[in-house]
Amino acid sequence: MKFLDAEFVRGFIRMANDGWEQGWHERNGGNLSYRVKPEEVVRIKGNFQIGEWQPIGTSVPGLAEEYFLVTGSGKYFRNVILRPEDSICMIELDDKGENYRIVWGLVNGGRPTSELPSHLMNHEVKKIATKGRYHVIYHAHTANIIALTFVLPLRDEVFTRELWEMATECPVVFPDGIGVVPWMVPGGRDIAVATSRLMREYDVAIWAHHGMFAAGENFDLTFGLMHTVEKSAQILVKMLSMRPDKLQTIQPDEFRSLAKDFKVTLSEKFLYE
Ligand code: 13P
Ligand code: ZN
Repeated sequence: MKFLDAEFVRGFIRMANDGWEQGWHERNGGNLSYRVKPEEVVRIKGNFQIGEWQPIGTSVPGLAEEYFLVTGSGKYFRNVILRPEDSICMIELDDKGENYRIVWGLVNGGRPTSELPSHLMNHEVKKIATKGRYHVIYHAHTANIIALTFVLPLRDEVFTRELWEMATECPVVFPDGIGVVPWMVPGGRDIAVATSRLMREYDVAIWAHHGMFAAGENFDLTFGLMHTVEKSAQILVKMLSMRPDKLQTIQPDEFRSLAKDFKVTLSEKFLYE
């Protein structure tokens, strides 16, 4: 099978383009990765051109010998649909989870996203926590969430509760809540450690003054999660601009009723008075 005909590759390209169309990927902003299933690797292996081993910059033993489809560093999401072979790549990890090598793509040179440590450490945490169910990690520069990191306290409880209040379905879409990483230098192991720690508990981590990370089972759920959180943030920005003191909102007991009917568990730490 041709590499670009594989369904997971088409899904990856579509998601990258959807993110571009949302306005979340100025220039080279944002990155996307997919943990490829063994049966999917088998089908496209005939296309491989194996590169040299390179250090990941962190250690992910739980992902040893796995394959990932990832966006390239410095590559533009708007170009992914036009020139996927130049914008994205597939990588293989070594038997220790310390090095990677490109097996397809980035035909004009380059390397995987500078946020590879964060992507892989998040994948490792989610693979364990979901018993292998989660396959997608997505980083986007979502303007409304970023704006909120200048005016709300950088606390998980505050962001979760405020965003839940802005759209009734939010507690159903992200019942576990949202974590917040204070401002840190991007692109390295330290921010990857901080983010993956939050990913043990949440499917969404906000990077203050930078953007968001979302994790999910497949492209639809992960894109849908990012979209829902950012839409809720947009409503909050509108509300704060019109009238910062709410005249009415959804109350803690109403969230408890919602949780019961929709069969989700909402931690009491978010339902403070
Ligand atoms: P890359 O181009 O290396 O993926 O970096 C973009 C980005 O958003 C960094 O946080
Ligand atoms: Zn970024």
